Amino acid sequence: MRIGVCPGSFDPVTNGHLDIFSRASKMFDLLIVAVFHNPNKTPLFTMQERVEMLNQATKDIPNIKVDSFSGLLNDYVRRQNSTFIVRGLRALSDFEYEFQRALLIKKIDPAMETIFMMTSSEYSFISSSGIKELAKFGGTISGLVPECLEEKIIKRIREKS
Ligand code: ADP
Repeated sequence: MRIGVCPGSFDPVTNGHLDIFSRASKMFDLLIVAVFHNPNKTPLFTMQERVEMLNQATKDIPNIKVDSFSGLLNDYVRRQNSTFIVRGLRALSDFEYEFQRALLIKKIDPAMETIFMMTSSEYSFISSSGIKELAKFGGTISGLVPECLEEKIIKRIREKS
């Protein structure tokens, strides 16, 4: 069975992420979307909330499983019986960080392959941080995040600001 892992913060999940998930799910028997616990970041949504939101957003894609992890990514991917990491790429600004990270992972685990999927043009400008900023100042986020999560995201951002 071919298994891919799509790691990220997903704070919150956006339509840009979903586009990558649905395209990547066609390349694997199972795609694991894994929320990374980053001790250096204070997220808007708890780990459990992000997992729930991802479950809701991906419920129509049968070969996706949502999970969470902390620690080294390649150790986690190995534990899932996979050697494939899927990441999305937007602008050139994503490239430098992703390039360095993919090489670092390969250095410690040469069998690990990071696969980059180019964003679809209609989602290229969408980021979790952009969504948060937009909602904070009262802008509409409809069409940018899964419809079923819009209200929850707006409510949380208003509560926090
Ligand atoms: P991280 O904190 O690990 O960068 P993110 O949740 O911000 O996690 O992003 C997870 C992955 O999704 C990254 O590979 C990122 O480049 C990709 N991504 C985010 N937004 C988009 C988008 N609009 N189109 C394509 N890929 C995206």
